[in-house]
Amino acid sequence: MQAGGVATVIVATLALQARGRRRLPYASANPFAGVPQAMDLSYILNHLGEDRERHRGAVSPPIYQSSIFAFPTVDAFREGFRDEFRRTTYTRGNNPTVEVLRRKVAALEGAEDCLMFSSGAGAISAAVIASVAAGDHVICVARPYSWTRAVLRDLLGRFGVTTSFIDGTDTANFAAAITPQTKLIVLESPNSMTYEQQDLAAVAELAKAHGIRTLCDNSYATPLNQSPLALGIDMVAHSATKYLNGHSDVVAGALCASEAIIREVFKRTYMVCGAVMSPHDAWLMIRGLRTLSVRMERIARTTREVLAFLQAHAKVEKVYYPHDAANPQFALTQAQMRGASGLLTVVLRAADVAGVERFCNALRYFLMTVSWGGYESLQFPVCAVYPADAPLTPPGGGAGLNYVRLSVGLEEPETLIADLRQALDAI
Ligand code: PLP
Repeated sequence: MQAGGVATVIVATLALQARGRRRLPYASANPFAGVPQAMDLSYILNHLGEDRERHRGAVSPPIYQSSIFAFPTVDAFREGFRDEFRRTTYTRGNNPTVEVLRRKVAALEGAEDCLMFSSGAGAISAAVIASVAAGDHVICVARPYSWTRAVLRDLLGRFGVTTSFIDGTDTANFAAAITPQTKLIVLESPNSMTYEQQDLAAVAELAKAHGIRTLCDNSYATPLNQSPLALGIDMVAHSATKYLNGHSDVVAGALCASEAIIREVFKRTYMVCGAVMSPHDAWLMIRGLRTLSVRMERIARTTREVLAFLQAHAKVEKVYYPHDAANPQFALTQAQMRGASGLLTVVLRAADVAGVERFCNALRYFLMTVSWGGYESLQFPVCAVYPADAPLTPPGGGAGLNYVRLSVGLEEPETLIADLRQALDAI
């Protein structure tokens, strides 16, 4: 991209971030009794739900490392059974440390409530399985996270639930796919490889008109940069393993929705399937969450520099990134996202897979592995999931073997750019 184009991206992104701050869902809506009326982001990250007076003033919340909680009388125990959703009896249902985190994540998404899971896959499958029965139909975007596809196609397919995978970049495709059996629409906006988006408000409106429930995977954007519930979506899922925790030391998931939906998921799948978060992981995640806003700000800033460098390099054919003005969905990015993340995909101008491998093997700071969203920069070479002798263009279509996904971390931008420069030279 030319210098003028880079400037356009920077100006547009800054404007988005400034505008977005006014539209954060928790700035006006306060679903929690007893918290300051102007519940701002720093209050949520640093204080909400911590009830320090109950814990001798402990600044960091205690880890309730207990599987069970005892009752003084049969009457009290009976009451515990009566409302397992609200009472603390067994850590597969509720745990005080996990509850601190539930309140924070719910507030970040502007939700009435939230459940924390032992993985993002656990959160997504709990939401999906709670929402359908045999004979029902689901509509899902064409390229969701691979294990989201697996729960819909492979797991629920065995139990009489059918799914249509459609190109979600055009809302008309959702309308065309609806049948009388459609009960759920599964969205992922943007996705985590080529970043296709859906018009969340338009899909939510369409779904409501047909009595269909909607679920959006918001892992890429984080609650700071996109608020699907405010746009009419019913349920928001996160792989909290990514930016929310941000330290590559916890696998975690979150599901945010109205209290009625969360109660239903609690009863139908959360307690049944048991993919719950441990108190220790909740404590680690509370710690990770404290720095969410500063991490995201820094990552977005560094990513703009990395993007500009990559787009100007002769060995780069293309970069996929939602906040690039050249992205065909850039107008939608501006309309429904407030700010940027640090995940982008670079398409290398390499003659063969060996050239791609030379680039990947030469990178020193971008650690080669799955996942993204941590403090450290990562690379995911698509060619690693194919046999070593596969051609650059996969026969089935989809991401080419010259696609390398980069997750920009908290390193100095100059360090990352120097690393990329020497690796591009190696192609
Ligand atoms: N959603 C997206 C977009 C992901 O990238 C991932 C994991 O990579 C998941 C969901 C699943 O989350 P987890 O790995 O925490 O189960």
